[in-house]
Amino acid sequence: MQEATPEKSADRLTAIRARMAAAAKLARRPSEDIHLIAVSKTRSVEDIAPLILQGQMLFGENRVQEAAQKWPVLKEQHSGIQLHLIGQLQSNKAEEAVALFDMIHSVDRLSLISALGKAMQKLQRAVPCFIQVNIGAEAQKGGCSVAELPDLLKAAQESDIPVAGLMCIPPADVEAAPFFALLAELSARHGLPQLSMGMSDDFEMAIMLGATHIRVGTALFGARTSAD
Ligand SMILES: *Cc1c(COP(=O)(O)O)cnc(C)c1O
Repeated sequence: MQEATPEKSADRLTAIRARMAAAAKLARRPSEDIHLIAVSKTRSVEDIAPLILQGQMLFGENRVQEAAQKWPVLKEQHSGIQLHLIGQLQSNKAEEAVALFDMIHSVDRLSLISALGKAMQKLQRAVPCFIQVNIGAEAQKGGCSVAELPDLLKAAQESDIPVAGLMCIPPADVEAAPFFALLAELSARHGLPQLSMGMSDDFEMAIMLGATHIRVGTALFGARTSAD
């Protein structure tokens, strides 16, 4: 159920925090275990600033280039900001991503693991990563298959990449709950503590099913004008 959407992002943030707390309470989970990532892709510094002033510290971007333009200044002005890469990453941008981001949610193949391992070694900076699983086995989507997951986890360990947990983007326009439940079951099987799942339309369900990081764009900033 979508409640009436407030006009200003600051009010929307307050409303989302309340909905997160209510979902955590229902799930009998401590609300400190659930982190809101404000997905700021396509948004301007002017759009973002009010949320920072309200204490929002975690932000998600899906493009390295865009993040590199927007965030260094904001990070300098506000200490404590953490930047999360949530979009697909090309191996040739691994080093730039390791330098810029505090967490990477889209690790989904061996070549990228190898590139990230080298970049972290070179920059002497360990960036916690999520392995992205293509949970609905969709042809066009990023993420490894469920079958590939054990090999990727092993490779990440061998490359000294800290793996926080698993991430997914379930298929659009169908009930997300079974996919969230499957991701939670996979992460439990591998003893991974964190789960990046849930977006504007389904974050409460994701919290019920164990999400530790929800990625919310539209419900915070309003509709995006560009497609991604
Ligand atoms: C854009 C995006 C989101 C946010 O989606 P909304 O529906 O706007 O909340 C979350 N995760 C990823 C990977 C995204 O690319």
